[in-house]
Amino acid sequence: MKFLKEFDFSDKRTLVRVDFNEPIINNRLTSDFKIKATLPTIKYLTGKGAKVILLTHLGRPDGKIVEELRTGIIGQRVSRLLNRPVRKLNDCVGREVEEIIAEMKAGETVILENVQFYPGEKAKDPAYINSLAKLADFFVFDAFGQAHRDYASISGLPRALPGCAGSLCQKEIEALTRVLENPEHPLVIIIGGAKISTKMKVIKRFLATADSVLLGGALANTALKAKGVDTGKSVVEDKMLGEAGEILGNPKLHLPIDWIISDEMILDIGQQTIKEFGGIISSARTIVFNGPMGLFEKEQFSSGSGKIARAVAESDGCSLAGGGDTIALLEGLNLIKEIDHVSTGGGAMLEFLAGKKLPGLEALNSL
Ligand code: ADP
Ligand code: MG
Repeated sequence: MKFLKEFDFSDKRTLVRVDFNEPIINNRLTSDFKIKATLPTIKYLTGKGAKVILLTHLGRPDGKIVEELRTGIIGQRVSRLLNRPVRKLNDCVGREVEEIIAEMKAGETVILENVQFYPGEKAKDPAYINSLAKLADFFVFDAFGQAHRDYASISGLPRALPGCAGSLCQKEIEALTRVLENPEHPLVIIIGGAKISTKMKVIKRFLATADSVLLGGALANTALKAKGVDTGKSVVEDKMLGEAGEILGNPKLHLPIDWIISDEMILDIGQQTIKEFGGIISSARTIVFNGPMGLFEKEQFSSGSGKIARAVAESDGCSLAGGGDTIALLEGLNLIKEIDHVSTGGGAMLEFLAGKKLPGLEALNSL
């Protein structure tokens, strides 16, 4: 894989695929963690005289224009954080966009419209890839959080333009590779959140390579049900009961032993579980944390997630966390700085750690 330092960016139209898919509530950004994590790449490029063209998706527009998902709100925040103007364009392809870019001066930055306003993004349509590629001389991939997607602007563009990885992407790969290839033991992985179906692969991999795998959150409900626990009306993925049943006998696997129930639903882990998990975390040398332990958005069910997050933050071992909701949890507790590496990827981080090949990184490797 190639990196920024190997290229001359002076006067080059540089298309930078970033992951600025930040959470928005009532037209306001509730986090800018991923934007901030990408600033070093933008500053490096503008400092070297590149014409920086930022490209991101936002939300799930499903291939059509959705007014609330325009990237203007993102552009404003980038501009404020850079303390320089960032022009927002009203499209991400087409003649008008090409003309504006042709007028750009070295060191300037623009942000294109939401790349997922066109169905060609997810369809990886060659014509769409070409329209995007026409805008630039060079491609920089810094959207680590999207590297597991096989989309036009992720795995398509690197094959249409000369390019390299940005500095966030480089940092993510370095931090995660250390855990994947050479972790200090005991290695403990804490997996929570919504769906066991999306995280089963990584659970299985870590049951083979880690010392302890701690499950919490809604995804633990499926394992508990497979074990014969009455889960009432809890969030459970019934189609995963068979696969969940297969891992129950593994002595490295730790499920909640008590929980908080409301309206017949398990919504948080209980005191005994917090104590048991906390003990395992405090003696770990490497910790991976992805997914909250309960419905943490509601104060009354946030205690388990908060205490586990604090245990991870207080650990002397190397700590790694990731996932949109996990970042929100850590930001809310002001714990981001206490974690050694907070990944901008959720799914991408887990797939990387599961040893899967990520289409975005594979495409960069082929350059
Ligand atoms: P991340 O974004 O960190 O990868 P996920 O997206 O997998 O995490 O899951 C986070 C979501 O799971 C949160 O919205 C949280 O409220 C929800 N959740 C966690 N535990 C429970 C539970 N016991 N019941 C219902 N929802 C839960
Ligand atoms: Mg999430």
